[in-house]
Amino acid sequence: MKVLLTGGAGFIGSNLTRSMVLAGHNVLVIDKLTYAGNLSSIKDLIDAEKIDFSQLDLADASAIDDAMLQFAPNAVMHLAAESHVDRSIDGPGEFIQSNIVGTFNLLQASLKYTHTLSAASAKAFRFLHVSTDEVYGSLGETGAFTELTRYSPHSPYSATKAASDHLARAWHDTYGLPVVVTNCSNNYGPYQFPEKLIPVVILKALRREPIPIYGDGLNVRDWLHVEDHCAALKTALCHGTPGETYNIGGNNEMQNIELVSQICDLLDELQPNVDGRSYANLITFVADRPGHDRRYAIDSSKIQSELGWRPQHDRQSGLRQTVRWYLDNQAWWQSVLDQSYQLQRLGKAQAVAAN
Ligand code: NAD
Repeated sequence: MKVLLTGGAGFIGSNLTRSMVLAGHNVLVIDKLTYAGNLSSIKDLIDAEKIDFSQLDLADASAIDDAMLQFAPNAVMHLAAESHVDRSIDGPGEFIQSNIVGTFNLLQASLKYTHTLSAASAKAFRFLHVSTDEVYGSLGETGAFTELTRYSPHSPYSATKAASDHLARAWHDTYGLPVVVTNCSNNYGPYQFPEKLIPVVILKALRREPIPIYGDGLNVRDWLHVEDHCAALKTALCHGTPGETYNIGGNNEMQNIELVSQICDLLDELQPNVDGRSYANLITFVADRPGHDRRYAIDSSKIQSELGWRPQHDRQSGLRQTVRWYLDNQAWWQSVLDQSYQLQRLGKAQAVAAN
């Protein structure tokens, strides 16, 4: 397939690009290269001419129209977004532009493009909209989000993702664009920007700096290895039914404190401190994130039973491989840290009207 993949220089997008190339697909990556976009994550693929790359902002509607018509894809995989909850608290404006307006522009460009195709090609075209479980809000002690759970986003990030999900479904229901939506739980793995929990913990520990845990550390997330997410996205693209939504999760719930302690144990084993002290001594509880959702859990039985996808990584080996990757790829994360972000805490500010 010829696939136009947005956000391919980001965490999940770069892993997905690599896996699409391995599967033999012809990929054009479109990415604005925000602070979170890192060309070094896919540089080898660009240099080897295994993918095409175009630095474009989804807010630029006419550039997106042109790229779509020139590349003439069979499918769009839409991952580009502002993705960090803490940043959305400090500056929601970028989230409105990229996540809502950007998705609108991409849907419109796709629709216009399908109008240039034969009826059979337009029917076979797919728009895969990649979203998050955060649109569903927070759970109590029990239960899990299904595809029928009512939307209840709490952060500016999740609110903009919810808006984009509704737009994607509306373009299917109203205009007949063959849209498939996926909502996935928290991902972990290689190439994740070091502002997110797992890389923050690893890199703070390696710098012997306090490892921050928000609130009481008892918030629960369902963690999925990024390679399992990519496999699910490929499955949803190739076998999902237009108009349908598929939840993706690892059935792998962990309290934040449990997760952080496991990472410290792995570091104690893989890169022990010379004085023998555990990295767990660096754990420091800090003020909670405003509006911090307590618990997320995903019921992914639909994609498992209807499309046959299953996660392959277990928690122990997935986390071990991830910690190992950050230890082995210092040049990658050091170049990221040498730019604008220095592992500082974000998301404490109140949004101001100017945003
Ligand atoms: P990321 O922040 O690592 O990467 C996002 C990429 O999108 C970056 O390369 C950035 O440059 C690009 N981008 C941002 N705004 C753009 C714009 N206006 N035009 C073009 N490119 C733009 O994000 P990620 O963690 O890889 O997440 C990718 C997608 O998956 C997002 O849509 C996110 O909502 C969704 N998702 C993420 C997770 C997770 O745990 N990371 C879980 C579920 C769903």
